[in-house]
This record gives sequence, C-alpha cells and structure tokens, in this order.
Amino acid sequence: MQEQNEPCAEAPIEAKIARIESNTYYAVPLADPSRIIRCTLRGKFKKDFRLKKEKLYTTDICVVGDQVELIMNEDGTGVIQTICPRKNHLSRKAPKIKGASYRGERLEQVIAANLDALYVVMSFQRPEFNNKVLDRFLVVGESAQIEVAIIMNKFDLVTDEDQDWIEFYEDLGYAVFCTCAKTGAGVARLKESFRGKTSLMWGQSGVGKSSLLNNMFPGLLLSTSDISEWSNRGKHTTVSVQMFEIDENSFIVDTPGVREIDPYGIRQEDLSHYFVEFVDYINECKYSGCTHNHEPGCAVVEAVEAGEISEFRYDSYLRMLDTTEDDMFF
Ligand code: GDP
Ligand code: ZN
Repeated sequence: MQEQNEPCAEAPIEAKIARIESNTYYAVPLADPSRIIRCTLRGKFKKDFRLKKEKLYTTDICVVGDQVELIMNEDGTGVIQTICPRKNHLSRKAPKIKGASYRGERLEQVIAANLDALYVVMSFQRPEFNNKVLDRFLVVGESAQIEVAIIMNKFDLVTDEDQDWIEFYEDLGYAVFCTCAKTGAGVARLKESFRGKTSLMWGQSGVGKSSLLNNMFPGLLLSTSDISEWSNRGKHTTVSVQMFEIDENSFIVDTPGVREIDPYGIRQEDLSHYFVEFVDYINECKYSGCTHNHEPGCAVVEAVEAGEISEFRYDSYLRMLDTTEDDMFF
C-alpha cells in the first residue's frame, strides 16, 4: 500500500487548453508553458454531457482557455481528467447551419474561457466602421463580465466622420486603440496593454486582426500554422481558436473572423445592463423589468430624449432587443 505522504507518481498535471482539433486537445502545462501535450478527453465527460442534455456544442465541453488536470500516458500523450470551473467564458449563438431545423432555438457556441480581456477589432474601411456591429461585440463582452477594449485598425484609412467614433466610445469609458497594421502606428501601446493578461481578439473578417498579430509578434501565427498551407495561400487565415504565449504570464487568444454575432442567453430585461451608460438610469424606471422600449415612465427613454444617452446607442439597443429571445433559455 502507498504511504500517505509519498508523492504519487501519477500526480495530475495542471494545464491550460491552447488549441483544439476535432477530438485532440493541445494542453500547455502551467509549470512549463514551453511544452504542449496532445490530449484526449476522458470518456466520462461525453457521457455526463449526454445525460445533462445541455444545449452546447459537444466540443464546448472543454474549450480554449480551460484549466484542466491531465494524466500522462506512456506514449507522451495525456488524458484530461478534470476540467476546472470557469472564471468566465465568452460565447455567442452558434451560427445557423443551412438546411438545419432550429425550432426557433439556436445553440450556444463557447469561444473561450478564463479571459482577462476582450479586444474587439474594428476597421475604418473594408469592412467600414459599423457602430451597431461594435455594440453587439461590446454587449457580449459585458455580459460575460470581461474587461472590454476596442481596437480601431486601418487608421490610415480614417475619415473625419470616423474620427468622432473614437471619442464617442472613449467617452463611454472604453479604452480605444487606434492602430495601423501596415505602418505599425499605435501598435506599441496596444502591445504593452496585453502584458500579464489573457486577452482574446475578436472581430469581423478582414478588419486586420492577423496583420496586427503579425506586426506585433512576427512569426507567431506562422510558427503554428502549416507551412505549406501558409505559402500556398500566401496569407494566414485563422480557422480555429488558438492561444499563444506572448510573454511571461501573457497570452493572446486568436479567433476566426466572424460575419456577425448574436449574443447567447441574454434576457430582454437584462440587455440594458450591458449598455454601460444605461446602468445609471435603469433603476429609475417606473416598472421593474422595464425593457426601455414602450413602457411609460422609462428613465432610459427620458435620458435619450434629454440627450444624456446617445440615440446611436439606444438604436443599437432596440435592434438587439428585437433579436433577444425572451426567457427562451431559462
Ligand atoms: P483579418 O481577417 O482580420 O485577419 O484581416 P487581415 O489581417 O487578413 O487583413 C485583411 C486585409 O486588410 C488585408 O488585405 C490587409 O493587408 C489589410 N490591412 C490590415 N491592416 C491594415 C491597415 O492597418 N491598413 C490598411 N490600409 N490595410 C490593412
Ligand atoms: Zn425603462
């Protein structure tokens, strides 16, 4: 029998998930981030999952950023035994699949877990700046209780009208980083802000996220993507969520570009909590559970009429309210 104080030869290794490819999980040990261990998921997770019938993608049982405990096989691969509780997670409604029947319901797609910051990447042209798109990303970040910052890239293409948006979002309290991946302008300040954190970069395709990452961390994307694929295409395309160590205790999570995002699981009556400047008013409404839409005595509507809340933001709010399913998931 084993002595009680004798160290167990099979002590689990604590690690973070950096990448997932179908059923293979790539885990980075906390004690040695230079290593990467190919792992499978212990069968029991899938069984538990089926029993619970949760409305998740099967791959979401364990996501990039999850902290896990694994045991090593003799061949150097690992088996994930434990998935630690998440500090937070970022998700959206899973994109619609052509031909699938939804019965009005869409699944949750978890993007990543245990994040310190979300950087929403926007561009001024190609695609042109769209405040409603930005507001959707902000709501997703706020609802996940993750610090949110905004990167406005392609600063070389900025127009006078666009300039106003920078101040607009700064006035709401968001950190705004204006960058040009082409010249490297503004990139140093952004890079500095990643220090000591796990930061996820998210945005529409074409905003220049890969260009920015390549500018800040040359070789980072190349080193982990398939070389022949790289040279054939001549361009890096992020196809899956991946976490990179950029410095000691500093990680970047790169994500595939998206066309649009719909927040998952936000109740209509909660949506206003995620518009940061609405929060000062929502307790002043006449009715509790006010959706700030049609109800009389609504303090948010009064603030919009008084010019204290911007009509742009209120308009974004109403549009999102329209697409937020009421109580569907609860
Ligand atoms: P991603 O889809 O967000 O990863 O975008 P990419 O990094 O692939 O960039 C999309 C296009 O925008 C490419 O043609 C880039 O050369 C271009 N691009 C990226 N950053 C800038 C920038 O700061 N200024 C300009 N003018 N073009 C940029
Ligand atoms: Zn109200």
